[in-house]
Parts: sequence; C-alpha cells; structure tokens
Amino acid sequence: MPDRDSHRIELRVDRFVRERLQPASVVATASVALAAWEAPDEPVPFEEVPHDAFTPFRVGTSWGKPWGTTWFEVSGTVPVDWDAGAEDIELKMDLGFSLTQPGFQAEGLVWSPEGVILKALEPFNDYVRLGVRPGDPFRVYVEAASNPDIGAGFIDFRPSGLGRKSAASSDALYALRQVELLHRDPEVGELIADVWTLRGLAKELPEGSPRRAAILTALDEMVDVVDPTDVSGTASTGRAALAGALASPAAATAHTVYAVGHAHIDSAWLWPVRETIRKCARTFSNVLDLMEQDPDFTFACSSAQQFAWIRDGYPKLFERVRARVLEGRFIPVGGMWVESDTNMPGGEALVRQFIEGHRFFFDEFGLECREVWLPDSFGHSGALPQIARAAGADSFLTQKLSWNEVNQFPHHTFLWEGIDGTRIFTHFPPVDTYSAVLSGGELAHAERNFRDKGHANTSLVPFGFGDGGGGPTREMIAAARRTRSLEGSPRVLLSTPSAFFDDAKRELAVPAVWVGELYLEFHRGTYTSQARTKRGNRRSEHLLHEAELWAATATVRTGADYPYEQLEAAWRLVLLQQFHDILPGSSIGWVHDQAVQNYERIADALEGIITTAIAVLTGEDGSSEELRLDGAELRLNGAPVPVDGVPAFGFAPMPDHTPVPIIETDTGYTIDNGVLRVVLDSAGLVTSLLDVAADREVVPPGQRLGILQLFQDTPTTWDAWDIDVSYRASGSDLIDTDSVSIVTLADGTSALRTIRTVGSSTVIAQTISLGAGSNAVDYETRIDWRERQRMLKLAFPVDVHADAAASEIQFGHIVRPTHTNTSWDLARFETPAHRWVHVGEEGFGVGVANDSTYGHDITRHARSGGGTYSVVRQTLLRAPLFPDPEADQGEHTLRTAIVVGDIGEAMRQGYRLNIPVREVVGVASDRTAPLARSDRENVVVETVKLAEDRTGDVVIRLYEARGARSTATIRFGFPFATVRETDLFEREVAASVLTAGAREVTVDMRPFQLMTLRVTRG
Ligand SMILES: [Zn+2]
Repeated sequence: MPDRDSHRIELRVDRFVRERLQPASVVATASVALAAWEAPDEPVPFEEVPHDAFTPFRVGTSWGKPWGTTWFEVSGTVPVDWDAGAEDIELKMDLGFSLTQPGFQAEGLVWSPEGVILKALEPFNDYVRLGVRPGDPFRVYVEAASNPDIGAGFIDFRPSGLGRKSAASSDALYALRQVELLHRDPEVGELIADVWTLRGLAKELPEGSPRRAAILTALDEMVDVVDPTDVSGTASTGRAALAGALASPAAATAHTVYAVGHAHIDSAWLWPVRETIRKCARTFSNVLDLMEQDPDFTFACSSAQQFAWIRDGYPKLFERVRARVLEGRFIPVGGMWVESDTNMPGGEALVRQFIEGHRFFFDEFGLECREVWLPDSFGHSGALPQIARAAGADSFLTQKLSWNEVNQFPHHTFLWEGIDGTRIFTHFPPVDTYSAVLSGGELAHAERNFRDKGHANTSLVPFGFGDGGGGPTREMIAAARRTRSLEGSPRVLLSTPSAFFDDAKRELAVPAVWVGELYLEFHRGTYTSQARTKRGNRRSEHLLHEAELWAATATVRTGADYPYEQLEAAWRLVLLQQFHDILPGSSIGWVHDQAVQNYERIADALEGIITTAIAVLTGEDGSSEELRLDGAELRLNGAPVPVDGVPAFGFAPMPDHTPVPIIETDTGYTIDNGVLRVVLDSAGLVTSLLDVAADREVVPPGQRLGILQLFQDTPTTWDAWDIDVSYRASGSDLIDTDSVSIVTLADGTSALRTIRTVGSSTVIAQTISLGAGSNAVDYETRIDWRERQRMLKLAFPVDVHADAAASEIQFGHIVRPTHTNTSWDLARFETPAHRWVHVGEEGFGVGVANDSTYGHDITRHARSGGGTYSVVRQTLLRAPLFPDPEADQGEHTLRTAIVVGDIGEAMRQGYRLNIPVREVVGVASDRTAPLARSDRENVVVETVKLAEDRTGDVVIRLYEARGARSTATIRFGFPFATVRETDLFEREVAASVLTAGAREVTVDMRPFQLMTLRVTRG
C-alpha cells in the first residue's frame, strides 16, 4: 500500500471515530438534579455528612478549594421511554477532569444513600452503573476530592505553594463539566475497541508490511459500511468488516505478555497519607466493579498497609475485597508493609517490612506472597535477595532501572545475586511502565525491548492507571481480549504474577546472573533530601532496637510485661514512612511535616518503653528487695559491639578518665589522647591526624580534613530526587570562620568550635573533639540552613590508596569502585550508605561514620609524592524547591566520626553514633547481664526481641558483618530448652535444632549470612 494511502486511511478512521463512533456510543442522555455541600476542612465520613445542608448546584459552576472535599447529591429518574437494560444505563460525571495525568487531579467516590460504595469517578473512568431500569428513581452521593495537580505534568518542576494546606489559597480549582444519565450502546463501544486495537497495532507494523496494509484496508472498509447517520444500526456491519483482521492469529514466535491488572498507588507523595487512603478506596471500588463485569479479570495489589487502611476505614468495602482475595482474583503481592525504599531502611527494618506485611496477609487472608513487588523504588540494595528469600519469596519484580540515565540494564529476566551469594529470580517488565494501558505501542515496545529473547520470550505487563487514576479500565480489558492471539501483536494473557513467574522460570532454565546492588542511575538526591525525615527514620530504627532489647531483657529477667502493641504500632508507622516517596524526601511539605511529627511521637513512646525497662533492670522501679540499694551512676550500651568500654548489651560503671585537653599553639590547635594526635590550623581544619601507634599520617600531603563544601544544586529535572553530576563544576570550600574557640561540651569533653557564615544567612557551628582513649575524631555540625538549590558536603581527604570503598548496607556492606573505568562506575557518582563507609589499604584504613546521613561520594585523586589518596564526602544537606519549596530549611544537627582502623572499627563507630551509651542510675546485678552475646565481633547480634507469636520465646537476629566465613558461639544470659533456626517469620526451618551447650550454641555463618534464632526458654 502506498504511504499516501495509509496516511489517508489513518486520518479518515481517526476522524470517523472522533466524530461519529464516539458520539454514537451514547444512545440517549437525561438530565439529573444536583446539590452540593462542601466540607469545611478535612474529609468527613459518609455517616457524618449533613444531608440537610446540601444546596442546589449547577453544571458549569466552580467547586473545590485545594485539598477540599465537596459532596454532590445526584438524583433523578430514568426516562421510561428508554429501551435499555440496567447494564446499559450509567451515570457519567465529569468533575472538570483534565485528560493528562489521571491520578494527579480531582477524583470522586460514589456512595449509595445507604452508605454502600459503588465506584469511583476518574478522568478515564468517569461512569458508574446504577443498577436501575427505565422508570426507576435513583439517588447517589459523590465524595469529590479537589486535589491540586502539584506535578503539573512533570515538565518544568515549578515550585508550588499548594503542598502545604496552610499555604494553599482557597480559590476553587475545578468547574463541574457534566453530570448526566447515559444510555450506552454496547455494540458501538465494542466497535470502538476493535478500531483502537487494530489502529494501534497498524501504527507499530513496518510500512511495507502486508499485515499493516490488510489492517488499514479493513479499517477503510469499516468506515465505508458504517452509516454515519445510523451508527447504532450499522455497528455490527462495521465489526464484521474488521472481524477478519482481528481473527488472524499471532505468529508462532510472538512474544507473550502476561497482563496483570494493577494500580501503583504511592502511599504518600504529592498528596498526604489521608488522601492515599481515599485513593485506595476509590481504586479498589473500581476494581471490584470491573470484577463484577468481567469474570476473568484479576488484580495484583501490593502493600499490606493499603489493605489495612481499607479494613479500618471502609470495613464493608474490605469485606468485598476479602471475598475477591479468597477467590484468587484480588491478589495481594509483594508481602511487604509498603513498597519501601530499599537503599535506606536498616536491616531489621527491611526485615520488618516483610514480617508486618506477611502477618497482615496471613492473618486476614491466610496466604503468603511468593514475590517481592517493588516496581518503583529507587534502586535496590544488595541485601535484598537474602532478606526476600528468608521471607519465603522466590521472585522479584521491579521496573525502575529502565529510568537509568547512562547504562541500559542488560537483562529483563535474570537471577539477581546479593552480597551473601543468595540468588533470586528477577524480572523487569520490558514494557518500561507499571501503569500500562495495553496499547499497540506499549505491547510492541515490550516485545522489541525484551533483552533476553532467543532464550526466553515472555514478560509481565502491569496495566492500570495508578495514583488515583483508578486502576484498570474496561477499555484495557477489551484491548487484552483482542490481543490474545492477533497477527503482528504479542500475545496478551490476562494473568497473575505467580502464573508469570512459574512459566518464566520454566522457560528460562539457565538465566544470566547479575551480582551486587541494582543501582538506579537516577534519583541520587533521594539519599539526602529532607534530612529531618532521614534523621527521624534513623533515630526511630535505633530506638526500636533498644526498646525491644531492654523490654525483652526485663521480661526474661523479671516477667515484666512486654509492650507488644506499642512496639507494633511504632514499627508500622516507621515502616509506612519508609515508603519510596517519604524516606527518599520526594513528597510535598505536608507529608514531611507529618512524618517529622510522627517521628517525635514514636521517639516519646519508645523512650518511655526504654526508661521503664531499664528501671526494672536496675532496680530503680523499686520492684526488687535485693536491689533496694543506693543506685550509682551506670552506663549502658544497647549496641551489639563494645562501645566506650561498655560491653555489648551490658552495663558498666562510670569511667574516671579526664577529658582530653585542646592545646592552643602558634599555628592553631592540637589534641592528643595518646592514640591519635590531631593538629588543626587556625581555621579549625585538620592538617595532621596521626595514628600514634602505627606512626601513620592520615592527612594526604597538602590536604586538610573536615572541609565543608557548598555546591550549586540545580538538577535538570526531578529536583528533590536528583543530583546531577554537573554539581561538581561549581562549589567552594568553606574555610573562612567567624570565630574559633575552645569550649566544654555538656559531657565535660573539650572541643574546638568553629562558626562560619555562609552567604548572609546560613550559620554553621561545628565542634571537633577526641574522647579519652578513642581512635575516632568526633564532629558535630549544627546548621541553620537558609540556602536554596545548594548542597552541603563534608569532605575528608585521607591518605589511603584504595580501588574500592566499603559502604554499610543492611546486614553487611557493599564494595564499590572509587574509579570511573566503566560507564557503570562513572554513573555511580553519588551512593547510599548506612552508618559508615570505609577505605583501606592492607593493614590500614579510615572509616567515616554518621548518625543520620545516607548520601556519600568517594573518589580517588593524584597524590603529591606519588600514588593516589581518597576523598570521602558525606552529603549533609540539599535545598530542592520541588515538590517542597521549603525543603530542609532551618536547623539541623549532624554527627560524624572519622576513625582510624579497619572495617570493624568503622562498624563500631557506626553503632556508637547511632546507639549512644546511656547514663542511668541504678544497680548492676544479674538482671542487667546481656541476654545474648556473640564471641566473634564480626558475628553481630543485630536484634533481640520476643517472638511475634507472643509465646514468650526470645528471638535473636544475627549477621556476619565482615564477609568472613565464621563459627561463633552465642551465649545466652538465661536458661533455654531449645534453640532453633527459623525463617524471618520465626518458623522453624527443617531440622534446625542447634548444637547446644548449657547456655550457648555454636553457629556457622557464611560471609554476610543473616540468621534468625528462636530460643524457647527453659
Ligand atoms: Zn511510586
């Protein structure tokens, strides 16, 4: 077919659809009565809507202040003369939708007068079936949310004041465009779907292809045979003209797509958590409605938290969801509490994502998820395969790496191997979206893009509008049906994640292996943005560790009550806030303000648990006759490694060493504790750091340690998410000081305090100190941050020649090159780490630990005198303007320690900064002895708690921290009957009773192995 013919047909068909078929899909319309009531502030439940307060409302009128809720009452009678069945009568309501970006604008939820949710109204899903017949009256209520579109298409990332309700204006955002009763013509609807699929397929076929010509010819004939003045009467004839083209089967080698209904609903992002709850109700109600219409439709839904919101807020809707779950059609996936970030959550927290998610799904539905489902999280930690497998998952799905800036990931289906060697079957949908609509373009892209062809030929396509777009639509299902076997198209099966993974594993018997983290070459600013949220997460994780440890110790020693409910509530809130737009700092100000308030409440609750438990242990609660002595000051260490002379999980008397003095000299200052000798210049920067015993200088020739650096930080797109490498072209060292002085800190330590003013407003006060006997120099940086679009780093040039740097991740560390040999290394210019990073040579190394910083960059530089030195930098703060123009403004306190020693020393400093030694008053006794202790410092007891099933068993979680195969003895501070190895859900793994001595067991650990032990008390 000549090109001009194809083009003519395409134009003809498109116009015919637009001007003839679409209008004809509605046989008749009828007007309705309309009234409205606007909630004064936050949403109110259906039961509390004042039904006498509605006033008449007219189509065309503006409604809806930002974040407001307007209730519409819609009523009327179906015209008696309609020749229609109930299935063809619908209410259509256009709230003033824009047809771009469903999910980022107004939405409605339709309720019956009895308070039953019927369905939602969304831009591409704006109807509700009322179940009424001609002559029937009806009345419904529409809970319409006037959510602002903060993203505005994600084109220019303009700062918006709408992200905090207090800052938003009260001007109406929308105008009600249409509310009508429709009599649909289903046959015309089917014809439109036929055309949409064929037209989309033809567009993807090569110009010279006979199949393309045949489809276009059929479409041309369809226009010929459908009478534009009687579309309803001739739609069947039009469909007959297309039947041949639709009946031609798929090629034997066609790619097979497992189409899985889905809705990616971000648990908070450009809206607050309370709106996500309503978004879930709307989308779930659409899904239930679609399931009624189509018996083959299934829907995969992640995040136990979202199910829990519906259970608690919409119990009747939840019972309908539960019924569909039990039928196997509404399918919980992922097994996690939320789709969390995986770069930043600590090891135990990532485990708890699975424990809390699993408990919910198991308790509510009796099922376990076999796959991890994180389509959108911003890169994936090398610890995840082991954690996922320990949680019973055998498959992993993500899509995000298709966003890589530089390198194309070489596989779509492969085995992913984590730092400990655990492998998990992994799939990246080659469709490159988790919100497909099953268009010809998407299907063709999935087939063309699939990188494992030749070895495999199947992929998964998640389809459905996310984020309040309302999930899958009947049009998508119609497209799936037409592409089940269609020449020129991939085969589309309406299917489930487990069916896909089972078939994909059978098909690809020997998958390729990818080792290490799945680093996202994008969104590198998410390790730093919204520092208060990061700090709150870090503090909460460590307070939870301490609360469980001391509460478990108190229960075992005295029978004190264990605060199960309070701990579960705190964990669940911490886990929610690890969602992949909250902890990464990419949400609006409202979300982050609320997150920080939640972290304050969590801290109060956990400090209460810790104080109570410690009082029980030290006798300060007055419960013990024996301990009714005069309490002395004690230090206690909640860390699993010895810190400052206090044993792991133990108590010790107060030390009696005198603070290390700071001596002022002609050129600056010196601090010397016999272990380290620190020389600082008059600007308070370290010019020499000597490891006294090794007689080894840490500062490279001509360099200074601990320099604050300020950079321009204006990423091209996605401001809060991204750091562009171009930041390195700017930047200045903050050397000038307002003052340098020797001060005494609250704990009696001498410190050097420097105060610097940046620009005209940002004040940075930094103290540097060295504890008695310590091998680490402590920095405390207090910043009153008033910068915009700038980034602050703290730089430590160290005289270490290292090809690679180690960064702590969950239950171990990952090693990344310091060079940029390959494009993969080059793209990794900003990296996440947990409590510490380390660079080392054989026998010598330097670690940099932090109390709440995640973003780092570690580079190599030519050294004067030969070789290279390393620069370790922490990324302390950013100030992006989108989506929160006030991000990170105000006061921050960040702690850093630079330690001379091996990875074990870095790890110890990481624990010291994050679980500071507590000073308490009381009596050390048998009660205060540790519950569990490892005899090997690299075999770390990360967690001590009571069992989730509340039987009173003690559970400990261990990991090997250094990458060294090890045998360790775990000694318990209480008698036990058995010690069993379990999965993450504390269920015994086969034949797992460990060889036990009187109060100890021996464990053999692989490098970076994670192990859970369940101890039944004797
Ligand atoms: Zn997302």
